Amino acid sequence: MLERIQLQRLYGAKTGLDLVQSLPGVEREMEFFPIFLKLRQQPCLVVGGGEVALRKARLLLAAGARLQVVAPELAPELAQLASEGALMHLAARYAAEQLDGQRLVVVATDDRVVNHQVAADAEARGILVNVVDDPAASRYISPAIIDRSPLMVAVASGGSVPVLARSIRARLESLIPAGYGRLARFGASFRDAVKARFPDVDARRRFWETVLEGPLAETVMNGDEAAARQEMERRLAAGAEGGGAVYLVGAGPGNPDLLTFRALRLMQQADVVLYDKLVAPELLNLARRDAERVYVGKARANHALPQDDINQLMVMLAKQGKRVLRLKGGDPFTFGRGGEEIATLAEQGVPFEVVPGITSASGAAAYAGIPLTHRDYAQSVTFVTGHKQDGTIQLDWPALTRPQQTVVVYMGVSTAAELCQAFIAHGRGAQTPAAAVEWATTERQRTVCGTLSTLPSLMASHGIASPALIIVGEVVELADKLAWYRRSENSAVTIQED
Ligand code: SAH
Repeated sequence: MLERIQLQRLYGAKTGLDLVQSLPGVEREMEFFPIFLKLRQQPCLVVGGGEVALRKARLLLAAGARLQVVAPELAPELAQLASEGALMHLAARYAAEQLDGQRLVVVATDDRVVNHQVAADAEARGILVNVVDDPAASRYISPAIIDRSPLMVAVASGGSVPVLARSIRARLESLIPAGYGRLARFGASFRDAVKARFPDVDARRRFWETVLEGPLAETVMNGDEAAARQEMERRLAAGAEGGGAVYLVGAGPGNPDLLTFRALRLMQQADVVLYDKLVAPELLNLARRDAERVYVGKARANHALPQDDINQLMVMLAKQGKRVLRLKGGDPFTFGRGGEEIATLAEQGVPFEVVPGITSASGAAAYAGIPLTHRDYAQSVTFVTGHKQDGTIQLDWPALTRPQQTVVVYMGVSTAAELCQAFIAHGRGAQTPAAAVEWATTERQRTVCGTLSTLPSLMASHGIASPALIIVGEVVELADKLAWYRRSENSAVTIQED
């Protein structure tokens, strides 16, 4: 810790706050200083006997406080707690001497004058005081909490926008699995043993990460602690940090908000990220900061790394003990060659996991307002590739041109004209609605809608380029009504007038 004098010499500042603000990395004054308080067996007082007091009393009891509640009368549930001996009821009006010996006071009456009086008296005695919903009168405020004891997350907005804090809490609730408390206790029970086994900090971090974020953690959270202990002992005995693994992760169609929780968690653990052309930089930024990033992307006929080399690279990195994240646009098992990539891993005995992503057809459909199926227009949807193999588009045209279905073409921009002609030649009417959606779900999204006969020229005149999807079928007509996503002027919808 730097002494104040030293700080003054370093920064030439005068007040404590000035000092703090001139420290690198500290941007502004903290309105409230966050702490966690050990209240077990500590005398605490709640002033007030209504519903709000009840909520606060429950929390204090959960923390093991020795609780007194002062109020002429108690709400039924508080009275119940008092009769069970969980708390002590002082059936009286507030008086300052009730504060004597208290560690902490919560004020929850509906009388502002009383509330402020209690606050002033507590302040005078140096007792921590909170006036519910009145941060200005409070010495401390209570955060919104996510309780996975012993793991506890607290969120506060300085008392000014509690709704915001609560909404963040709701989001965190969904991010932190319910079994985390169990996992935290499990981890704590091995803390010393792990420290002794891995004196090196980095090795220890990697060990813990593989334990707390891998299949072992799932075992603990699922409640099979005996099996988890056994496995943990085995790993400790082997001194294995936990070997490498490959995570084949779908990054979704491009908008970072459409990533899955699982994908995000794995991105934040990866040692190496191998990514494709379709993975946007905003997405890549979500990977762990010191993860190595390797571009292995493929543009059609312009392979940065041949597939075989990618497969070998993944095997090699995983065998070095790295956690390899293979990040792919959309869903890895939809035109993503995911099956080929993991076949090599499976052969080589490298542990792997596949994380699904939102495929671009789903993304495009939702963001362009084109439902892929619809009771009236399409009872099925088919995903096909417009990519040529051996110079031709090899598709099952009789099946694709049947009515009452939607066909989504991936990788079809360069063959759009041939595709549309083939649809018509095989019997799907020239007036069948058809759309192209470029950069779906991103700020650059553009949609052009026409028919099988007009779409190719529309795409050409608007300069629609890869990545784009072609959607064929009556559902395209709904875009006119259902398109909602216009994030920028660029993300326009063009509907051809007949
Ligand atoms: N696995 C990916 C598809 C990879 S093939 C997925 O599930 O989406 C590459 C093709 O996907 C592109 O040629 C294009 O047709 C389509 N594509 C991917 N992202 C797209 C996007 N944001 N908008 C439109 N099409 C996209």
